[in-house]
Amino acid sequence: MTRGYDTIVIGGGLLGCATAWMIARDGGRVLLVERDQINQHASGSNAGSLHFQLEYRMIERGVEAARKAAEAMPLHLQAAQLWSDLPGLCGQDIEVKQTGGLMIAENAQQVELLERKTEIERSWGLDNRIIDRAEIDRIAPYLSDRVVAAAFCPTEGKADARTAGPALARAALQAGAEIKTRTEVTGLVRQGGRWHVSVATAESAQRAIAESVVIAAGVWTTRMGQMMGAHLPTIPLALMMTVTQRVPKLIPHLVQHAGGRLSLKQALDGNILIGGGWPARLIRHRDGEPNFDAKPELLTTSLSGNADMAIRVLPDLSRIPAIRSWVGTTTVTPDQLPLVGPVPGQPGAFVATGGSAFTLGPSFAQALVALIECRLPETDLQAFDPARYGRQ
Ligand SMILES: Cc1cc2nc3c(=O)[nH]c(=O)nc-3n(C[C@H](O)[C@H](O)[C@H](O)COP(=O)(O)OP(=O)(O)OC[C@H]3O[C@@H](n4cnc5c(N)ncnc54)[C@H](O)[C@@H]3O)c2cc1C
Repeated sequence: MTRGYDTIVIGGGLLGCATAWMIARDGGRVLLVERDQINQHASGSNAGSLHFQLEYRMIERGVEAARKAAEAMPLHLQAAQLWSDLPGLCGQDIEVKQTGGLMIAENAQQVELLERKTEIERSWGLDNRIIDRAEIDRIAPYLSDRVVAAAFCPTEGKADARTAGPALARAALQAGAEIKTRTEVTGLVRQGGRWHVSVATAESAQRAIAESVVIAAGVWTTRMGQMMGAHLPTIPLALMMTVTQRVPKLIPHLVQHAGGRLSLKQALDGNILIGGGWPARLIRHRDGEPNFDAKPELLTTSLSGNADMAIRVLPDLSRIPAIRSWVGTTTVTPDQLPLVGPVPGQPGAFVATGGSAFTLGPSFAQALVALIECRLPETDLQAFDPARYGRQ
């Protein structure tokens, strides 16, 4: 059977669910196709940090790299507002807490880096300021004395990664979207001005037709691009996370570090999440291609490195047992800026991925939906245009 839609969204992570919800809300006939389960991959296994400051990976290579990464700041600003509005807008119970984020420094060099990066962020309009030790004592007494200063961004915070994607999927269904899980897109062909999308389940193969398609496929983005003959370069990153036992309220903020990979936050139910970008080992096929169906391997060096750093700045953690560590895979792009916009040379096809696409997922979705509906996106997307990578 061949069904017709306005848009087919490929991928049921946070981005795909948010995009399908926004299209359906606006009256579009939309089908979301997910090869596994909703939220099964990066969107359901991430740290849930809503970070609007430049992250460590964006500042570790110096001020020029930070300046380049800051070109995405309009998407950060938009995301800060969208996350706070999201539960009300989609009518779902999404746990979002924007109680502020601290990027901490332990020495003069890190303080200088914080000052320079904060200057860049403020020039883009982000509310962020340096606070000294006296203020840290007042608002974040849980931090070790080693922390000498921090950049404080009041809109930063966290959302529950386990429930945000499914909540948006429910909102999409309620707005009239169709969702097919355990259904894989196996072919994408443009014929007669429309996209013919081949989909397969374990039992059957079908075809659906749509005016437009959205690639919201996370680490599978490059492969989906290849399927339609387009160059969408992404770099896969396997990362690990650790969570502790539940403890009484200790950390109200998102905590990151200016001198290394660290993110700390406490979930509403009391568990402390420890992460920040420590690597896991990506499993590869014999030909060297990444195998995204295999779980990455946990690295003991990452486990101990992440724990050491976390305990150094939050000494109470040494008395709180960790209960689980896990791994997941996500994407960055060669220039570290997101990939958001039309798929080059493929009319009616759109893509978004790259970087902290949990934080930025709602902004990406809003931009994609504007493009699909032929409206001007609220944010200038030129710096994120996939066409900047040309053809391979
Ligand atoms: C350990 C870890 C911690 C992280 N921490 C943070 C954080 O704190 N904050 C933050 O902002 N970001 C974080 N990230 C990054 C963030 O999780 C991802 O950027 C984001 O979830 C990507 O969402 P997505 O919807 O684009 O992709 P995904 O969640 O990966 O969803 C893509 C979906 O597409 C489906 N798909 C692929 N190919 C097909 C096909 N052919 N047919 C049908 N379906 C298909 C997949 O099955 C998958 O479900 C972290 C990532 C990891 C791994």
